[in-house]
Amino acid sequence: MPTKFIKKSVKKNGGKKKAKSYTLQSKTGLIELKCETDKHDKFYKKSVTINSGRVSSYFDLDWLFDKSAVILICENCSTIKWIKNQAQLRRAV
Ligand SMILES: [Zn+2]
Repeated sequence: MPTKFIKKSVKKNGGKKKAKSYTLQSKTGLIELKCETDKHDKFYKKSVTINSGRVSSYFDLDWLFDKSAVILICENCSTIKWIKNQAQLRRAV
């Protein structure tokens, strides 16, 4: 694992939820989710609701027809990944 050298995971029971690894179910199989910036593979999961059409057009989120989505925040660098189909999201074992 090339991710350990930067930072160890946040303190246990430190108030924050623990970051976890996730996979995405696709037609071709399970895809392991990794941060595009630093290849970190642990994320904090958050559900978000988009209230305004202005926001969704700003982010070019036309696929957000139900105005809700899941974001995964990289534990390491806080890069946000948008998950458009929450049903495909799986907790990695
Ligand atoms: Zn990252």
